[in-house]
Amino acid sequence: MADCLFCKIAEGTIPSTKVYEDENVLAFRDIEPQAPEHIIIIPKNHIASANEITAENSAVIAKIYEVAAKLAKELGFADKGYRIVNNCGEDGGQTVGHIHFHLLAGRNLQWPPG
Ligand code: AMP
Ligand code: ZN
Repeated sequence: MADCLFCKIAEGTIPSTKVYEDENVLAFRDIEPQAPEHIIIIPKNHIASANEITAENSAVIAKIYEVAAKLAKELGFADKGYRIVNNCGEDGGQTVGHIHFHLLAGRNLQWPPG
């Protein structure tokens, strides 16, 4: 989609520090990390937010969770723990209008979130 930051990252027209890529999913390091490990995982196809998940496109969301589990093992924080976060809409704190999942690890994450 034109003028979508994460579509441009998926296309490679905006650079990113990739940690995983396949036909449908891309994972890259967050530019402003909120934890020692902070990775963004996206579907390459544009889905605006969690509100747009349907029976037709939800397979990629399952794949994103598979990728998160794989990265947690590879990067060595699976046993210690981590958090997967999806912010949806204004009250959810979503700032980029292409669905993405934050994979956060490397420190004791607090609850509840702010
Ligand atoms: P959210 O607030 O949930 O929409 O998350 C958007 C995330 O994208 C934030 O954590 C930003 O730091 C991150 N971000 C924005 N621009 C870039 C970029 N060019 N490369 C990597 N991460 C980015
Ligand atoms: Zn997009």
